[in-house]
Amino acid sequence: MPDVFAELVGQDDAVDTLRRAAASAAAVLRAAHLPAPSSTVDPDDDLAALAEADEGAEAGGTGTAVDPGAGMTHAWIFTGPPGSGRSVAARAFAAALQCVHGTGCGTCSGCHTTLTGTHADVRLVAPEGLSIGVGEMRALVLRAASTPSGGRWQVVIIEDADRLTEAAGNALLKAVEEPPPRTVFLLCAPSTHPEDVSVTIRSRCRVVPLRQPSAAAVAEVLVRRDGIAPDVAQWAAAAAQGHVGRARRLARDPEARQRRDAVLAVPRRLTGVGTALDAASALIEAAEAEAAASVAESDAAERAALQTALGAGGTGRGAAGATRGSAGQLKDLEKRQKSRATRAQRDALDRALVDLAGFYRDALTSSLRAPVAPVHTDTAALAEAGGQKWAPEGALRRLEAVLECRAAIEANVKPRIAVEAMMLSLWRG
Ligand SMILES: [Zn+2]
Repeated sequence: MPDVFAELVGQDDAVDTLRRAAASAAAVLRAAHLPAPSSTVDPDDDLAALAEADEGAEAGGTGTAVDPGAGMTHAWIFTGPPGSGRSVAARAFAAALQCVHGTGCGTCSGCHTTLTGTHADVRLVAPEGLSIGVGEMRALVLRAASTPSGGRWQVVIIEDADRLTEAAGNALLKAVEEPPPRTVFLLCAPSTHPEDVSVTIRSRCRVVPLRQPSAAAVAEVLVRRDGIAPDVAQWAAAAAQGHVGRARRLARDPEARQRRDAVLAVPRRLTGVGTALDAASALIEAAEAEAAASVAESDAAERAALQTALGAGGTGRGAAGATRGSAGQLKDLEKRQKSRATRAQRDALDRALVDLAGFYRDALTSSLRAPVAPVHTDTAALAEAGGQKWAPEGALRRLEAVLECRAAIEANVKPRIAVEAMMLSLWRG
């Protein structure tokens, strides 16, 4: 039976670290539950005792109750490129902490409820908008300080810690600085760069770096877990550039494949200023359409739920007052939904830009005759022709134009302006 870490593709080192930490955490709980007089662990301060045990071990001490090198700690950061499985790793570790066997067996109720998002002591923050606000963070920190109802750990997973507002980061920092005894914070961020996670938070966390998994590792999991045919899996894994979720979508969703085809058709359509601007419009509109489709269902469901909760259509006493209050709540909901739609658009656009960057990378490597496999096997011939025409310098300039566009959008340049500038650069060379 595969355990909770089986979903982590090509991350042997990280899995090793997490397994040892989970075993160490289980040892802490066992020590706390044992009334043995020899136990030096104060049940009110389990992790502090553990930290002391760790320090003792570093100073050459032996014979502590927990494996000293394994080290459990109360705050972790999972870093790695998009699609490497940061949130998968955080959830798997959370499950291992709640596992009744302390291993992440994958089958017990602790593992199961954590992985399905219903465990009472596991809280997940996944920003719907562009950032995580201070209100949300304060409420979370407060609840995380309570005693775990399941008798193990309170686990807080923050999926995009790089999207914390400064105020939210400060609220989190306070909790990480003075952690409640049984609370564990699991942060996910692209990197430990100060732009992603503040240095003060970073300094209190243990980092688990995840790698971009190899195409072979991604293809293997698509075949084994999702039952995808090996040739399709290999193509999708290469085209997704190590992004597991994207590879699965490409393998399974014809619309995702069509969108990718449209993006990869861009380079050969750039014949002048007019076509460059048209291509920019098409790219932006495709991202908008993709995002709209992805949020439409949840938007409608949320609105209906709120209206039901507010008793829409009521005519009895108090209905007028309720309507006045509900206008505000509906406005709040619309604001949240708009913010989520903006983020979905940016994510869709970014996926398109990553595909496009892959094409120019292929052109560059082929013009350099570098012995590496192309990202996009299906446009490899086109990329090779481009590489010959542009020479390495021209291919590199184009690749840089795409990467600059991504960076500009990340820095809040209006997407249309950034994409138009990119298309013009791609056309001019
Ligand atoms: Zn389990």
